[in-house]
Amino acid sequence: MNALSLQNVDISYGRTKVTHTINLDVHAGESFALVGESGSGKSTVLKAIAGLAPDWSGSITAFGQARGHGIDQRFSKICQMVFQDPYGSLHPRKTVDAILSEPLSIHKIGDQNERVENVLQSVGLDRKFRFRFPHQLSGGQRQRVAIARALVLEPKLLLLDEPTSALDVSVQAEILNLLKRLRRERNLTYLMVTHNLSVVAFLCDRLAVMRHGRIIETADISQLKRGALSEPYSRELMEISASHRA
Ligand code: ADP
Ligand code: MG
Repeated sequence: MNALSLQNVDISYGRTKVTHTINLDVHAGESFALVGESGSGKSTVLKAIAGLAPDWSGSITAFGQARGHGIDQRFSKICQMVFQDPYGSLHPRKTVDAILSEPLSIHKIGDQNERVENVLQSVGLDRKFRFRFPHQLSGGQRQRVAIARALVLEPKLLLLDEPTSALDVSVQAEILNLLKRLRRERNLTYLMVTHNLSVVAFLCDRLAVMRHGRIIETADISQLKRGALSEPYSRELMEISASHRA
């Protein structure tokens, strides 16, 4: 079974159509990257899957469960999103405990105390952080909280929108290692947006290249590492990314 299947997905903001007939299959257990220049529609695709870009057509299915339009609690139990900016994505006036308990309350799940403690431990945060507020945490710690919030419902699929790009370089590797470990331990599937091809090489099995709201190429990580992407635009992206690293 596919972890995620998008069929002919068109997404609009008002009268502007942002993506055009997106077709995408992510296999169960896979880590799949979505790359492409800024404005190509990567975040919009993740938002539509997460129910945050309401104006879409086509079909979105995760582990056999078709997403409805609007709030879809059955779907969100399976599929959760982590945002780029851990400063903006956590409510400033809620404690870590409240942030992590909220999804459990919404989904009427018990054992909240135990689940919150377990998920904090799972993302490598000491229990002393449980009753702190986001502004009392570092960027890396906040992103750990955001990952914990996504995991507390024990989803099978995580949508990760540039999960390390807002963080200090020194912290990025820690979070990438954490994501790698969590995927292994929890048998997760990832769909991750990044513009950093070394992140793709570290964490992903396959990738799709987006341009102007379309997927122009899908490739294996081995093709990426061999420099064997077939579209000229994809190779251009690789060169840009390589020169940024140098
Ligand atoms: P990416 O993540 O690849 O950088 P986005 O998905 O954020 O790209 O944006 C794709 C396009 O949709 C851009 O042209 C952007 O300006 C537009 N867009 C994104 N969010 C909104 C919004 N909330 N309202 C209107 N247009 C938007
Ligand atoms: Mg984006």
